[in-house]
Amino acid sequence: MMTGDEYRASLDDGRATFFEGEQIFDLPGHPILGITVDSAAAGYDRFHDPAPGAVGAFMAVPGSAKELREQVELHETVDLLTHVTYASIMTLLTAADRIEATLPDQAARIRAWVKDAQRRDVRITQCITDAKGDRSRRPGNQDDPDAYVRVIERRSDGIVIRGAKLHISAASMGHELMTIPTKGMKPGEDQYSVACMVPVGAPGVKIINTTYAPRHADTRDFPMSGNHHTPEGFVIFEDVFVPSDRVFLAGEHPEFAAVFAHSLGLWERLGGLAAFVTGYDRLVGLERVGHIKEKISDMMINATLIRASLEAAIENCSVTSDGAAFPSELYTNVGKYHGAANYALMVRHLHDIAGGSILTAPGMADLDNEQTGHLVRKYMGTLQSVDGIYRSKLFHAIRDYTADALGGWYAVTNLQAGGGLYAQRIVSRLHYDLEHAKKLALEAAHMGESANGSA
Ligand SMILES: Cc1cc2nc3c(=O)[nH]c(=O)nc-3n(C[C@H](O)[C@H](O)[C@H](O)COP(=O)(O)OP(=O)(O)OC[C@H]3O[C@@H](n4cnc5c(N)ncnc54)[C@H](O)[C@@H]3O)c2cc1C
Repeated sequence: MMTGDEYRASLDDGRATFFEGEQIFDLPGHPILGITVDSAAAGYDRFHDPAPGAVGAFMAVPGSAKELREQVELHETVDLLTHVTYASIMTLLTAADRIEATLPDQAARIRAWVKDAQRRDVRITQCITDAKGDRSRRPGNQDDPDAYVRVIERRSDGIVIRGAKLHISAASMGHELMTIPTKGMKPGEDQYSVACMVPVGAPGVKIINTTYAPRHADTRDFPMSGNHHTPEGFVIFEDVFVPSDRVFLAGEHPEFAAVFAHSLGLWERLGGLAAFVTGYDRLVGLERVGHIKEKISDMMINATLIRASLEAAIENCSVTSDGAAFPSELYTNVGKYHGAANYALMVRHLHDIAGGSILTAPGMADLDNEQTGHLVRKYMGTLQSVDGIYRSKLFHAIRDYTADALGGWYAVTNLQAGGGLYAQRIVSRLHYDLEHAKKLALEAAHMGESANGSA
């Protein structure tokens, strides 16, 4: 396994990664992106095991509800790159399981690749969301055929792909881009049915980074985003060659394209749901004003429902013939949907209760200043027991988490990451037991099961 320093060195692989108009040649040394590299390097050091052939504990495939819960709890404590690596591995294994019966060679190739990736101890990011062009048109019916990533050439030793994948979390920080279709493809859209693993440093890959990292000299005013942030990558594939042993769908079998996206959706939404459990509790905890009980009760009820969904997703997991435990599709999607749909309401309650100091509390350096510090402390205080420094820090945390760059990032990400509400609604509908619900309704109406109402 790699150490943190070996990980840092491994990023010097000729990758073409850009930030604010310039190519970055030294990611670890970059004043902003380097902070994310440090978080990822700490993840390497945390899980490092020098034994030959060791695999990080964060990679373990759960085999029961208990192990699934342990993995979910562990992943709440890891950096984003480590987490998406695990979710990618689980996505690939889930997809292998689902295609095995019809495409055994591809399933075997996926499993062999996963083993090799674990041996190399690489980090993997998830390239799913295509540029998509005109949303009302199918991939094969766009003005620009590159709106969805596609195979432009088949060779005896691999394929050449072209297109772009947008909003890819931590793309520049990993080693491998898990590139899979964003949705199901139809007959005639074969060229868009492509699933493969692309090294970040492969010729033709370009990544443009954006980040919510604060641009402020004093990171104490940004207690959450100041020292931990992860950029998103705008990943472009300019005619990239991918060797056969890294190709799982090679512009064929459009009927299997959706398997990859759905497999990812499950693991991505489980991660999203687990993050909501902590996030919702954090929003409740940030608000301590006793007299606005109704709103706080609402927040507590929502936080508890989210936790209950995660519990139900884990407890109702299914175990495959391989012995791998997958969370329940229904509870994962419904919980993630509920968390995403109600996040804005939770933040609204918090802002309503907390007041304007969320935005205007003086900075920590103003508290340090001899001329202003004691005054800020005096006027930012409330009760004798609640001193101005304490309140200022709380307001900085609320602003950073909900009302500044990181807050804006959460507002959009909670809705969109893992697919929008629309996608979660579709999967929820697919797994809900509608027949049972219909039966109950008909019984209540004393209509039996027949369409004309006769018992
Ligand atoms: C911070 C962040 C990190 C992300 N990380 C990743 C990542 O690591 N990897 C990755 O692959 N993606 C990632 N995503 C992308 C995320 O999955 C997408 O943002 C999401 O799927 C919506 O796609 P879009 O942004 O292209 O928006 P659009 O496609 O424009 O969609 C906007 C809304 O319209 C809905 N919609 C779109 N098309 C239709 C249609 N035909 N019919 C009905 N409704 C439709 C969508 O569900 C969505 O609600 C990330 C997004 C964010 C914001």
